[in-house]
Amino acid sequence: MIDLLITGGTIVTMDPQRRVITGGAIAVDEGRIVAVDQNLPDYKARKTIDASGCVVCPGLINAHTHIYQALIEGIGYDMHFDPWNWRFLFPIVSQIGPTHAEVSAQVAALEMIKSGTTTVSDHWYLHTDFDNVHRVAETLRQAGLRHHVVYGLLDQTFAGARIDSEYMTMIRREEALIEAAEDFIARWHRQGRTVVALGPGSTEDISDRLMHKTIEMARQRGLQLATHVAGWAEIVTYAIKNYALRDLEYAHSLGLTGPDAILFHAVWLSPREVQLVAESGSKIVHCPVANAHLAYGIAPVAELRAKGVTVGLGTDGAASYTYDLFEVMKMAAMLQKVKHLDAEVLTAEDALEMATIEGAKVLSLEEQVGSLEPGKRADIILVDFAQPHLMTAHQVVPKLVYSARGHDVVTSIIDGQVVMENRRVLTMDEAEVLKRARQATADLVSRAGIETHDLLEAPWPEQGPRWREAVTSEWFKTRK
Ligand SMILES: [Zn+2]
Repeated sequence: MIDLLITGGTIVTMDPQRRVITGGAIAVDEGRIVAVDQNLPDYKARKTIDASGCVVCPGLINAHTHIYQALIEGIGYDMHFDPWNWRFLFPIVSQIGPTHAEVSAQVAALEMIKSGTTTVSDHWYLHTDFDNVHRVAETLRQAGLRHHVVYGLLDQTFAGARIDSEYMTMIRREEALIEAAEDFIARWHRQGRTVVALGPGSTEDISDRLMHKTIEMARQRGLQLATHVAGWAEIVTYAIKNYALRDLEYAHSLGLTGPDAILFHAVWLSPREVQLVAESGSKIVHCPVANAHLAYGIAPVAELRAKGVTVGLGTDGAASYTYDLFEVMKMAAMLQKVKHLDAEVLTAEDALEMATIEGAKVLSLEEQVGSLEPGKRADIILVDFAQPHLMTAHQVVPKLVYSARGHDVVTSIIDGQVVMENRRVLTMDEAEVLKRARQATADLVSRAGIETHDLLEAPWPEQGPRWREAVTSEWFKTRK
């Protein structure tokens, strides 16, 4: 008797042979995949899921986000990185405490489960209270998600903003940060479905001393190192000015590259830096939707992959406006085609690899997840293809990547546990989460002060985006 049998679907395995099995079955026991094939032995299962009409594939891997931004999407938008930070982000996220953190994680978890994500890497550096990140880890554990925590460290600036600003409640002193990180690692690393990595905010946000200590701490403990590198043009200019190096070259000089390194965004790389990424074995997380919204640019994904670099996909935070990795896969492929004027440069198969097996490699989880193979943990999603926009003659991958959306995922299994069945999330009370999310957002807005109210109350814009109309406050005039 096994725990679970999934029968009748079209299985996109993402195994080394990239088998696609029509009318296949998957056997799951004690959280692991026991068998995947066309014809399985006559298993008796405690539960059977009929996947007829569905495409069955590995759960998607969101290799970079900031869950703390989950409650504030839509407050500040259509801005470049710089006004986005000080005009929208700082005034409101500086007010986030443990309860907001917990509710952010609940609402993000709900959206992720409902759109087919089974593993998330969350870069949490918002230590307005050191309890925040513990509450997030506990919430994601309860939700059933697989969780890769990049424990963030900022002791100098937040996205380049100085420590003396009134909003810099998330900047903490070196000793306190290290102690809190040690405590988090001891409590969470390799506990259940949680693993921990260490993450300086960026090359600019952290003092040299803390940078060296963080790198040393990660390497001593065998933890991955993850940071934002060369995402926005300003940080490249900053690095050239201050170190006579481009941002990735500077990160490399600090020791932030290597097979245990994860680099987020990596938009502004010179050909020499692409080579450096490849030679060092560093992994990249591409966030095409956020990169597009903030007008960061189009990352050299095809160039990196051509050199054999492992590239995963992430939503990044609020700038993405979604946790739906189907949207991210499509955007990843489309942007590369446009950039290179080459329809073949990044295919549907490439995008699906990035969201599954490549994402698993980025997070060093490829022995456990990223494909449907015997021996791996059972992280499986069922996508309902019996719908008008998902009719297909034979090839399912282009429809999966270009036509499917997160809400087409009907059932999701993580670690062998059914967390959503027929669109009903079984690990959380959805109505209760939405109620709490509305309350927590209202509370944050009420704490945030005039600059946030300005954004929310700005009139329909007559010239340029709405935030430009929100110039009534004295705060804004002095800030400008
Ligand atoms: Zn980010």
